[in-house]
Amino acid sequence: MHTVKAVILDLDGTLLDTESMVLDVTRSVLQKYGHKITAEVQKSAIGRKPLDAWQATIDQLHMQNVTAQQLFDESENYLKSRWQDARLMPGAARLLWHLHSHGIPLALATSTPRATFERKMSGKAAQALTAVFQTTKCGDEVEHGKPAPDCFRATAKKMGVAAEECLVIEDAPSGVQAATAAGMRVVVVPSLRDLEAYPKPDPDCSSGCCAVLPSLFDFRPELYGLPPFEDAICGEVVPIQPPWRIKGTVVKGFGRGSRELGIPTANLDSESLQSALAETVSGVYCGWASIGKSPEVYKTAMSIGWNPYYKNEEKTAEPWLLHDFDRDFYGEELRVLVSGYIRPEANFSSLEALIARIHKDADVTREALEYKNMAQLKNDPFLRAQ
Ligand code: ADP
Ligand code: MG
Repeated sequence: MHTVKAVILDLDGTLLDTESMVLDVTRSVLQKYGHKITAEVQKSAIGRKPLDAWQATIDQLHMQNVTAQQLFDESENYLKSRWQDARLMPGAARLLWHLHSHGIPLALATSTPRATFERKMSGKAAQALTAVFQTTKCGDEVEHGKPAPDCFRATAKKMGVAAEECLVIEDAPSGVQAATAAGMRVVVVPSLRDLEAYPKPDPDCSSGCCAVLPSLFDFRPELYGLPPFEDAICGEVVPIQPPWRIKGTVVKGFGRGSRELGIPTANLDSESLQSALAETVSGVYCGWASIGKSPEVYKTAMSIGWNPYYKNEEKTAEPWLLHDFDRDFYGEELRVLVSGYIRPEANFSSLEALIARIHKDADVTREALEYKNMAQLKNDPFLRAQ
């Protein structure tokens, strides 16, 4: 197997959470024409050059009397002013700085046209990252956009590395296809929740799709001959910097009897969550929490996931405060400072196995939050009652 000499990353949905913005805007543009976004539309549009994406949408929905250019102009109009607000995907900054500081050449290969790219990178979070890339290739700088291999080939050529020496990180099926067609290995962090849209990973990882990961937090550089991360706390918790600040009102959950199991989890209202979290952050996390007017701060294990009761269209965040309360806190404000990633969501073969794992998450939380940087966050002003 060739060692990886360079890493080429996709931008939208991989490093920047622009997919949820685009989805929002696409939804409202289509609504004007009496159409609804479908899973098929999303699948065929995601990861492509904007005009190609709109053409795919028109084809999928059999739209008449409108051109891709018209739809593109309408959506760009909305999006232009919003690009700079795009947030980094969870784990993106950590990954880039890690590889960069170890001297691994990095590049961006995006379907976004150069002018839009500049806008997207002008936000505070993204701007800090531009320095790590040796080169960037935009959608309007190659003849054929993804799923064609052009942008990846051109990038490798510019970096002076062979296709077999490149590792690509992608979120979209079209991007995976493009990288594979270029003869590169790919690690996928899917933006689409339908995993059928992606190739099955090849465990040998000699070519094509090597891994499909729940998030960039789960990327293991050493599997590709790259330097391993050195920042895990207690060997397993990935620090989140800056920590996520989530606050909302505690609402009734679904009475799954979690309290009877000895694992009460407060549910935060969904509106606060939608605006607080990047598109894909499912997993189990640790951090500090406080409630209402109380000055107390508690160690907290929290799972974030997609709610099956709303056809998985709503995100839920369920913090378990590691303290025995003799009361409920429905209707009160709950603040959570999320500072570490513990593990991805998982399916368990039995309820016993699930409960055992949750108790282990709690132990990990208790231990990890004792560590210096994590412990200090307890005093963060965000946790203080306003
Ligand atoms: P629900 O389905 O309404 O979320 P749970 O059985 O999961 O019910 O219990 C969660 C509720 O219990 C919380 O909303 C909160 O009011 C209360 N509660 C009591 N102790 C805790 C705790 N240690 N962590 C989280 N919630 C707690
Ligand atoms: Mg609950």
